[in-house]
Amino acid sequence: MQAYHISLILSRIASFLLRLVSVPKCIVCGELLEREGEICPDCLAIWEEARAVRCPKCLKTAAACSCRPRFMFLTDPIQSRPMLSLIFLGKPGSKETADRLTRIIVYKTKRSEDRSAANFCARELSLTTLRFLYRSGENPREWIITYPPGTKQRIRKYGFDQSKQLAKKISKYTGIPWMSCFKRIGHTMQKTLSSMARRANAECSYSLHGYNPAGKKVLLLDDVITTGATVNACTRLLREAGAEKVFPISIARTKRVVAAARRTTQSRFMYHMK
Ligand SMILES: [Zn+2]
Ligand SMILES: [Zn+2]
Repeated sequence: MQAYHISLILSRIASFLLRLVSVPKCIVCGELLEREGEICPDCLAIWEEARAVRCPKCLKTAAACSCRPRFMFLTDPIQSRPMLSLIFLGKPGSKETADRLTRIIVYKTKRSEDRSAANFCARELSLTTLRFLYRSGENPREWIITYPPGTKQRIRKYGFDQSKQLAKKISKYTGIPWMSCFKRIGHTMQKTLSSMARRANAECSYSLHGYNPAGKKVLLLDDVITTGATVNACTRLLREAGAEKVFPISIARTKRVVAAARRTTQSRFMYHMK
């Protein structure tokens, strides 16, 4: 009887503590939230501001920008968009509130054990993607979602593969099935490399494994797109396997101000690729 009593008290204390811990907090400022969700109204307003930031080259928002990242040229644009991202990633160390907020959200989506930021981004990206597909006359039922898997090293470090998790969540929200199409064969993490090295590394980091994408329209999910090297390498593999269309989606992409000199290098490079 005594033991039963103690265990009851203990379980009550445990559930009380659990409630304290699981009170929803804003993923950016940490403020307690009055309602269920991930982000407070103030931070949400800044997020909307960040989504309205325009590309310096084509003057469109990240979701509508028609500029291709440096090493991304194999994907199939829809309505002149080579890809769809929610936001432009702010420069590291930037003092702008919107830049700081986007970096916090992206960082937490990639690393935080608490998956609230990932839930938030998955929902935002699901909505934007569905709306875009419908408006472009695409039937989401004809599409699948896949992703470039992370390195073993990374998965061990953080305990999860953030791209796979995001793909699963987006699949849940959109009803578009997620499939695992790749195996990681290289072990070097992209973020440690310079842009040219990224391209070379991406080309030999993945191989097809698992689901056969032949005849499918594929949403290729990469959480952050910087040079586009990973997306390009994966697109090549999907195309070689007979995928009908490959369209990349991402939470964030770097804002790229293309210098004239660089553009020349790129077109020369593309010429060689043909
Ligand atoms: Zn907040
Ligand atoms: Zn642009």
